[in-house]
Amino acid sequence: MVDSEQNGSDTRPSESDGCSCKVGRVADRYTLGGLDEELRRRYTAEASLRDLETFVNERILRTAIEQAGEAVPALVSSDRGIGALYEVLRDEEGTAAAEQARLVTRLEQAGVDVDAVTDDWISHATIRTHLNDCLSVDTAREASITPEGAINTVEWARSRSESVVSETVQRLKNADVVEVTEPDVSVSVRITCEACGRSYAVQDLLDAGGCDCNRGDSLDEERE
Ligand SMILES: [Zn+2]
Ligand SMILES: [Zn+2]
Repeated sequence: MVDSEQNGSDTRPSESDGCSCKVGRVADRYTLGGLDEELRRRYTAEASLRDLETFVNERILRTAIEQAGEAVPALVSSDRGIGALYEVLRDEEGTAAAEQARLVTRLEQAGVDVDAVTDDWISHATIRTHLNDCLSVDTAREASITPEGAINTVEWARSRSESVVSETVQRLKNADVVEVTEPDVSVSVRITCEACGRSYAVQDLLDAGGCDCNRGDSLDEERE
């Protein structure tokens, strides 16, 4: 399967070449190609500043682990894996101290400088400054939802699910748990109106402006 997550982040040099805020410096240090385009795209697709914070920090963590060498990448072969590791390292409530200590030891044995990585993590406030000052993206109006933004978000989530499921099937196959010659995973999104049971593709629901049964109701009300 083509990795659709890579769409839009092609080989053009990142616009942040030269931006000297922490985001730009970290993007350089970890060679996070296309980071600015990705931040812009996600922000337009309704990602919050905190979502972007998680996105950047997970990329930093993933890159550090990949650069460290052999053993750990096997441990984090899926995005779910990186997300789970990030949560443990982050552990804002301090509920996973023991697990965190184990993970830190394991990462350091693999050659990851965990302190350096966590020092490089970026706060959502820094992301905001970078968007405003370096990318001229206005975050003052916290993005109100638009049909276009919603479609982008849903498509992003759909193709992300597809990647994760596809990767999982591949791992099952590699582990000889299932036999499929050429597994092709597809994920599609439908929205069902439970009032009447009709189901819609997202674009169709947006185009229609709602479910027909609602429209019927409101027309009836207007007539009364
Ligand atoms: Zn910047
Ligand atoms: Zn309905």
